[in-house]
Amino acid sequence: MIPYGRQSVDEADIQAVVDVLRSDWLTQGPAVAGFEEAVAAHCRARHAVAVNSATSALHLACLALGVGKGSLVWTSPNSFVASANCARMCGADVDFVDIGLSSANMSVSALAEKLALAEKAGRLPQVVIPVHFAGQPCEMAEIRVLAERYGFKIIEDASHAVGAAYRGDPIGNGRYADIAVFSFHPVKIITTGEGGMALTNDDVLAGQMRSLRSHGITRDVSRMEGAADGDWYYQQLGLGFNYRITDIQAALGISQLQRLDALLARRNALAQQYHDLLRGLPLQPLSQHPHRSSAWHLYVVHLDDAGHRQQVYNHLHAAGIKVNVHYIPIHLQPYYRRLGFGPGDFPMAEEHYRRSLSLPLYPDLRNEDQKTVVETLRSAILQ
Ligand SMILES: *Cc1c(COP(=O)(O)O)cnc(C)c1O
Repeated sequence: MIPYGRQSVDEADIQAVVDVLRSDWLTQGPAVAGFEEAVAAHCRARHAVAVNSATSALHLACLALGVGKGSLVWTSPNSFVASANCARMCGADVDFVDIGLSSANMSVSALAEKLALAEKAGRLPQVVIPVHFAGQPCEMAEIRVLAERYGFKIIEDASHAVGAAYRGDPIGNGRYADIAVFSFHPVKIITTGEGGMALTNDDVLAGQMRSLRSHGITRDVSRMEGAADGDWYYQQLGLGFNYRITDIQAALGISQLQRLDALLARRNALAQQYHDLLRGLPLQPLSQHPHRSSAWHLYVVHLDDAGHRQQVYNHLHAAGIKVNVHYIPIHLQPYYRRLGFGPGDFPMAEEHYRRSLSLPLYPDLRNEDQKTVVETLRSAILQ
């Protein structure tokens, strides 16, 4: 069986986890702080706040930016549901900005048009959440210009894009966005089993997310209302959650991060091989922008004939090649239809969904297995 994605865990990763199990701390020990420092340094960000999932990080990012009842948040319909749910979890309204078909990322021209209309209607978004689909960064400089013009904040959903770069800057470094969010789910670029992180250069946002991940509690005297009663003292400043990550997970994350460059290089090599092997078939890989380096979370192709997709998918699955589809447009989920969305609202995301297939791509995929994938795909399409 060849899955579409899977983790790469080596002996050093296993040893790092075992070492924590033999230590004094299973949670909230030195590994969490070490993981945060290592990711922040890698991304050249001031703060990194580790949590138990990217979904939690998105939720905390929205709360820290003041998203609540009456707020409006926009994201891409071509994403995992968490990119939109985070705003709903704060009681906010959600709307979507259609994608550009060739990259499947949020379209900057669609965003600009929608903002101009929203300004006239007096209902601008407080936060926009671009999603770096498949690992390729969105047009962050252009989105930033719009953010300044229309006064919204930016959360990058960089769940696919750990290790990606935009115009030479590592994703997560905060040049264009207020907060960036990573996922460490096993199919993503590096894993902690479950886990996520929010990166920011803003001291206040970082402090809020740190306290909200652990019940809204702080032990930092400088943030307390009034004086501390003693060394045991803590204060609950707001209503937070238990979104903490464990030291067991963070130790795995530190070990995985040391392998990030090798993991990215292998993903990139496999992607280049797919470009070559797929040439001449009636399908189009996603376009890649020259000034961005993708983390290659997914290798997505658009079939020229969308009517074939089901048959091609079934043929590959029958051969043990578990291709997948990313994503069912969020606005077509029953939950979002009940909020008033429906077919035709975001035609490019719907067209992408009809045509797309995600081919197997993960560091341990062997070259001969990749050739088998392409040969099986060829016979599925041409049969
Ligand atoms: C995986 C993913 C998430 C959620 O990540 P978790 O760590 O599983 O919560 C959010 N957004 C996108 C785009 C994702 O791919």
